[in-house]
Amino acid sequence: MNKNPEITLTFGVLNEASAEESRVAITPESAARLLKVGIQPAVETDAGLKAGFQNADFETAGVKVLPKSEILSKSDIVGYIGLPDAKTISAQKKGSFAIGLFNSLLNKDIAGQFEGAQVTALDINLLPRKLSKAQSMDVMTSQASVAGYKAVLLAANEYPGFFPMMTTAAGTIKPASVLILGAGIAGLQAIGTAKRLGAITTAYDVRPASKEEVLSLGAKFLDLASFGGPDLSAGQGEGGYARQLTAEEMAAQQAAVDKAAAQFDIIIATAQVPGRKPPVLLTKAGVDGLKRGSVIIDVAASSLGGNVEGSKPEKTVLTPNGVKIIGAPNLPSSAPKTASNLLARNISDIVSHFVSEGKLVVKAGDELEVLAISGKKQEVK
Ligand code: NAD
Repeated sequence: MNKNPEITLTFGVLNEASAEESRVAITPESAARLLKVGIQPAVETDAGLKAGFQNADFETAGVKVLPKSEILSKSDIVGYIGLPDAKTISAQKKGSFAIGLFNSLLNKDIAGQFEGAQVTALDINLLPRKLSKAQSMDVMTSQASVAGYKAVLLAANEYPGFFPMMTTAAGTIKPASVLILGAGIAGLQAIGTAKRLGAITTAYDVRPASKEEVLSLGAKFLDLASFGGPDLSAGQGEGGYARQLTAEEMAAQQAAVDKAAAQFDIIIATAQVPGRKPPVLLTKAGVDGLKRGSVIIDVAASSLGGNVEGSKPEKTVLTPNGVKIIGAPNLPSSAPKTASNLLARNISDIVSHFVSEGKLVVKAGDELEVLAISGKKQEVK
């Protein structure tokens, strides 16, 4: 007996491969999940090549391989990774859906662009992550894990020394000391990876709850108070996230981080506050105080600025005192196969959630209704 329901919808994904992007928002594995809920998957020709998926791999999994114009004109829902341009949005079918990491709290125009094209856009960045149902849909978590892991590998490659301690006939090699700023999903993964490579690992986060998590991974927690830092015991924000610090707290934090940073060889910064510009944790004074050969990876680097003064997204800046600042906002793209598998699984679960009686519907009162930043919601009768 064929357990798959009748196919009534099409989910299409474009080729977003560029110098900065190697991921794809569908994989043969996620395609099987879509087919199971009555969705025909489609992918633009060659979209998976950089992530290691051939057109034939998709065809074998039942995915239609089509040119871009057909993906846009035929799909009931289009999956995006990067922000689509106005031309792409307007080429989507009227009444269709779009799903992606639109970061609509920062990208103020995007909702209006989809609205103008009569497309219902679902912004994954608005996922209510505390919902147990949302765990398998959480793109921010899955991609942050990849970013934390790769940040450490990148640092290890760029650092002119070793991470682990080693005793050799020619003498003992001192281990590298790593400071991880921000101990959320990416930071915790970075701690685990740095420890596995043998570095002396210390971490810092503004949320009081994070100290225990850091210690449980066998890392040290940086006590900023001993460097004159602010008392942030009320540092927890809404929903377990960091709150925005006051200007005075921020200044005191920066001064203390700048001072503390001088004892580390490698700094990995992953601190964010959802929907806001990343906080500057390490200023130019702090960078200037680092040892020659030190490496900074700013995972929070963005066009709005990052956690480290002087970092530039996708660029390596070599300071006059010989410190490398690497702006690395798109690290998941450097492990494109794993990152795509996780991302595509997350997206297929969100899409499947909105399928009802062969249609895509965002019902008023649905627990994921908040994702819709444009388009009409349907009242439940
Ligand atoms: P994020 O990417 O928004 O931020 C990364 C980290 O930076 C956070 O830990 C944050 O506290 C920290 N940070 C922000 N401002 C800072 C500052 N000024 N100084 C130092 N650190 C600063 O967060 P995230 O990694 O997505 O997760 C944050 C929290 O949410 C974690 O506790 C995580 O476990 C939790 N979370 C829970 C769920 C769930 O319940 N299902 C899902 C995802 C995340």
